[in-house]
Amino acid sequence: MRTDRRQFLRIAGVAALGLGLKPGIEALLGRGLVEASPEILAQGAGAARRWAMVVDLPKCWANPGCTDCIGACDQTHNVPRFEDEKKAIKWVWLEPYGRVFPEQDPRLVSAGLGNRPTPLLCNHCENPACVRVCPTRATWQRPDGIVMMDFHRCIGCRYCMVACPYGARSFNFVDPRAGLDMDKVNADFPTRTRGVVEKCTLCAERIDKGGVPACVEACKQQALLFGDLNDPNSQLRKIVESRYTLVRKPELGTRPQVYYIV
Ligand code: SF4
Repeated sequence: MRTDRRQFLRIAGVAALGLGLKPGIEALLGRGLVEASPEILAQGAGAARRWAMVVDLPKCWANPGCTDCIGACDQTHNVPRFEDEKKAIKWVWLEPYGRVFPEQDPRLVSAGLGNRPTPLLCNHCENPACVRVCPTRATWQRPDGIVMMDFHRCIGCRYCMVACPYGARSFNFVDPRAGLDMDKVNADFPTRTRGVVEKCTLCAERIDKGGVPACVEACKQQALLFGDLNDPNSQLRKIVESRYTLVRKPELGTRPQVYYIV
């Protein structure tokens, strides 16, 4: 029954593409600017908390070769590992700085900065394009800003992957459990199935218990900082206010909530 429902929803999604939803997505992306709806802006401004992250790149780069944040995330969320890059599932991953911030001064990039590994994750955008296009509400935004995933509601249409300008979502082309050491699976977090999209959820399950994201906890360099942007006294807010920070592709209007210190 479950497969039948999923197949039906997938067919319905494909039909919707043919009937005119596709131009809507293209308009969303092609315009180059995603305007925040008043509801979304009001939600962000009025929320008691607005969780965000700061990535301090000089601190991160001071420990070359370290992938502790990725390892902690993968272990916590049962993220599979596959040799074949086409099957790769990424919640936290590394890309060269020059590719992450291609608009930065090319003279600095050519000075060696461009190849430095830069940690990436879902930006938990204030105005998330992925949420707008999901036909089943399998992805949604909490009042505290975290962009969530309901793996059971996902029909695998991948509209969210098209809409996300940051490549922050992965699709399970094969059963992800084939890429897990089942003896080390975290029983407190669900494993996923083939045909489902997944991404970082900022460790909402840990935050709701008063914790911090697993990547933040694992980083010995303290290069990752998590906190409440709406709290003027939080360390994160003070850093974002006082330091020069970058966000990815600000011109798109998605308002990323992962800030980078360079
Ligand atoms: Fe959605 Fe992509 Fe923004 Fe994450 S980074 S909230 S997946 S648009």
